[in-house]
This record gives sequence, structure tokens and C-alpha cells, in this order.
Amino acid sequence: MTTYRNGEISHWMKDSGHPGFAGENSAGQGESAPTGAPAPLPTEDQDLVIVGGGLTGLWTAYYASLEHPGRSITVLEAKKVGYGASGRNGGWLSTLIPGNRAVYARSVDKAGGDGCQAVRMFQQAMFTTIDETLEVLKTEGIDAHQAQGGNLKVAQTPAGMERIRATYRGDLAYGYSTDDVRLLTAAEARSRVNVENAVGGILYGRTTAVDPALLTRGLADAVAARGVRICEDARVSHIDAGSVTTNRGRVGGRTILVCLEAYSGTVTGSAPGLGARQVIPVNSSVIVTEPLPEETWARIGWEGRECLSDAAHTFIYAQRTADGRIAIGGRGAPYAFNSGTPGTGAVDERTVGQLRHKLDALFPGLDVPIAHAWRGVIGVTRDWCAGIYFDARTRIGVARGYAGHGVTATQLAARTLLDRAEGRATPRTGLPWNDHQARLWEPEPLRWLGVHAMYRLFEFADGWEQSRRAERTSLIARFGSRLAGLHE
Ligand SMILES: Cc1cc2nc3c(=O)[nH]c(=O)nc-3n(C[C@H](O)[C@H](O)[C@H](O)COP(=O)(O)OP(=O)(O)OC[C@H]3O[C@@H](n4cnc5c(N)ncnc54)[C@H](O)[C@@H]3O)c2cc1C
Repeated sequence: MTTYRNGEISHWMKDSGHPGFAGENSAGQGESAPTGAPAPLPTEDQDLVIVGGGLTGLWTAYYASLEHPGRSITVLEAKKVGYGASGRNGGWLSTLIPGNRAVYARSVDKAGGDGCQAVRMFQQAMFTTIDETLEVLKTEGIDAHQAQGGNLKVAQTPAGMERIRATYRGDLAYGYSTDDVRLLTAAEARSRVNVENAVGGILYGRTTAVDPALLTRGLADAVAARGVRICEDARVSHIDAGSVTTNRGRVGGRTILVCLEAYSGTVTGSAPGLGARQVIPVNSSVIVTEPLPEETWARIGWEGRECLSDAAHTFIYAQRTADGRIAIGGRGAPYAFNSGTPGTGAVDERTVGQLRHKLDALFPGLDVPIAHAWRGVIGVTRDWCAGIYFDARTRIGVARGYAGHGVTATQLAARTLLDRAEGRATPRTGLPWNDHQARLWEPEPLRWLGVHAMYRLFEFADGWEQSRRAERTSLIARFGSRLAGLHE
């Protein structure tokens, strides 16, 4: 029998203590009434309309209101601020570029530029974006339980360590210095987090663990305090130059910036980079445990609150929360037929079991109950690379496709969108995700079959490598990476 909460938005949102927060039950429906009616839609045309109340939309509102305090700015959010991935994620404010570095580099090379140098610039921008985010938290007095313990990736098989070494070589080529990233011996990795059977690891020092709901809600409060109007329960259905259509009526805007990430395929209109075959919603699921007893923490360590992952093919992400729990997430049932949004409602038992199993493989004998399971959606393009677009004629802009690496990237995307809307050429507007063109996803049922086949291949490869403590990455995983376009 299930004894933990399952569904609702997330553990973070439940605990964010925000008075405006309305939950969602295990079927993905709102379960409690918001405290008060949502803000009315503006009747005057706005200088800036932002569609989507996640981190991209809120960062856009934040910097727009800083730069132009007198302008009218409205954020339109279908549900509640933080209802999407921004209130559900694993809380890694990470250095990872949203997308495949080699794909960005190749697209710049093809256009006659220096691809490798362009990715290095992108990486530097990710580093400074972490610094900038931490600075804003300080300036705005937002306590998001931030802890800059780094991102520790631990290999439990020699094949995993081989992959880590290959990634490290790529890191140095693509803009990390030996101060930013460090290979660790088994003993060094275990002295940080005592992962079972660790054979080595890698540490990305700048990555910071945060509570994503505190970050998102804190930012919403900062934005509202600057006079930005945030209209919740305002679902946009159509976007045209100069206006958007919502369930509550029309809103006019001289500039419209669309920040819908995995929901980008759900609106119609002439905006660049939107559409069901451009970005698909891929599920990611998380479980969080009850707080661990002190004697267990003494055994595990994890005192730096490092963001933790392993070197398996099936990506997982974990953090030690500020109140002494472990939150661990991974892909789970990945994709719903025809780009349905699989990110709401209860997590299936198989996925919860897989995450629990992963937790036990990292820390055997961890006798702690699960407190809560939830899920969300990430926006994925066909080549797993993000894109930022702005059409100067219609004054509509779009940022989306972070593929599960958006906590840092949303801030960089927001500032880039604003640069482009202002017609400014800056180092940000030269980064290779600007106008990046991925090919379209296949029509159904090929899309569904392809995504599911890829996940099954990775699961199989992980099982195969672990059971043999393989020295080399399996052929099947190499094939899966190529199929998915994930290889560098
Ligand atoms: C489970 C999970 C774990 C993750 N872990 C990490 C991590 O640890 N680190 C990391 O870097 N990234 C992580 N990510 C990805 C990261 O959370 C996202 O990339 C980022 O939050 C995207 O922010 P966003 O504002 O673009 O999109 P969202 O936060 O999804 O915001 C979009 C908003 O638009 C609203 N909306 C939808 N349709 C409409 C409409 N028609 N009209 C108006 N509003 C609409 C939604 O309700 C939502 O609030 C994770 C994602 C998930 C799901």
C-alpha cells in the first residue's frame, strides 16, 4: 500500500509556504482553492507580455522591470507560478549547457564560425549566470537554501569511469578549466559522498543546490514588488503580433515573449520555435525521503550538499535537502503519445520502484521511507539543444528546449531574449543557441516508438554493464546515444 504522498506539484511547492499556492491532487487536478481571485487581466495594451510563469518568464520580467521600471509588464500563467518544471525540478543550479555541445559546435562550424570557441563562450556565460543568480538571491533577500557544494558525478563501474574521463576531456576542450572541474579518485569521491562501489568521480565546483520552489516563488515576489502584474489562471491559447488570446480574454502587448518550455506545443500562432514537432514534453520524476537520522548522515557524509549523479546511461540527479532528506529524480515513463503532457498527477509505481532501487544501489541499507513522489515535464528538441528566437517584424520572441538543464539556463535565456527584443548585439546574442535550428521530431507513432526505444536501450545497457562491472561502454548504449543524438 502506498504510504507516501504521490502527485501534487512537488515536495518543494508543498513546503514553499506561499499563501497563493494551490496544490494539485494525484490526478493532476487543482485540489485546494487559491487564496483570493487571480489578478484581473490588464485592459490597456502592455509594453511587454510574458507567457508562462516559470523561471524563464520570471527572470524575463525581473530584468525587464529592472531595466525599464516605467514600462507595463504582465506575466500570464495558465495555473500558478511555479506550476511547471520550475516548481518541480531537482534544484541543480548547474554549469551544464542545455544541449549537446558538439551539436552547437557543428552548427557554428557549418555557418563558417569557430564552433569550439562558440561553445567555450557559452560555457563561460553559464558560469557567470550562476554567479549572477546567487547575487540576485542576495540582493533580493531570497533564501532558496542555496549551497554551492558542486556537482559530484560518481562512477560505480569501470565503464562509467571511462565515460567520465571522456566527458572531462570534452569539458577541457569546451571551456572548463582545471579549476572548474576535477577528476576524483574513488577515495576522494567517497570522502564527499560515500557512494557504494564508487570507482572514481568528477566534481564541477560551481554547481549549487537550491530549493526550486523557494527560488521561483521568491523571484515572483521580487518581480511583483517591482510592479509587474502576474495573472495566474490565465491560459494563453493563441499568439498574434500585438496580442494574445487567453481563457479570460485578449491581452495586447507591443512585445510578446513566450516562455512555455515543455508546453510550447500547446499554443497556436505565428511565433518562431513553437509547435508540437519542435519541442516534445518528456517526463521526469522525483522522490524525496523522510529526513535521515544523524547516524545515517554520519555514514554517508554529503556535508557539502553536493548535487549528486552517477555515470549510468539513465540520467539521475539527487540532492541532500537543507532539512536532511534525499531527493532523487530520473526519467521514468518518458513520453506520452502525441506529445501529451505526462508531467502531472501521480508517479507510476514502476518508476517509484526504479528510483528507490537507484537510491539503494547508491546507499545500501538506507532504511528510510519515501515521503513524496511527483513528476514534471522537460522540453526536448530533436537534437536536445535549446533555442532562442525573436522576430523583429512581429516582436514575438521564444525561449525553450532546455532538455532538463534549465535552472541556470533560464536566466541566461531571459537576458538574451531581452537583448534581442531591445535590438542590442551583446556577447549573449552571439551564443550558439540563438536561432538554433533542430530538425523536427518524427510524426507519430515513430516519435513515441523512438523515445521509448531509447530509454529501454539505456536501461538494458545499465543492467548489462553493472552485472558484469564492464570495463567499456556497451555497444547497445553507444547505439542508443547515436539514435537519440546524445553523443558528443
Ligand atoms: C522533475 C524535473 C527535474 C528537473 N531538474 C532540473 C535540475 O535539477 N536542474 C536544471 O537545470 N533543470 C532541471 N529541470 C529543468 C528545469 O526545471 C526547466 O528547464 C526550467 O524550470 C524551465 O523553466 P521555464 O520557465 O522555461 O518552464 P516552466 O517552469 O515549465 O514554466 C512554464 C509555465 O507555463 C505555464 N503554461 C503552460 N501552458 C500555458 C499557457 N498555454 N498559457 C500560459 N501559461 C502556460 C505552465 O503552467 C508553467 O508554469 C528539471 C525539470 C523537471 C521536470
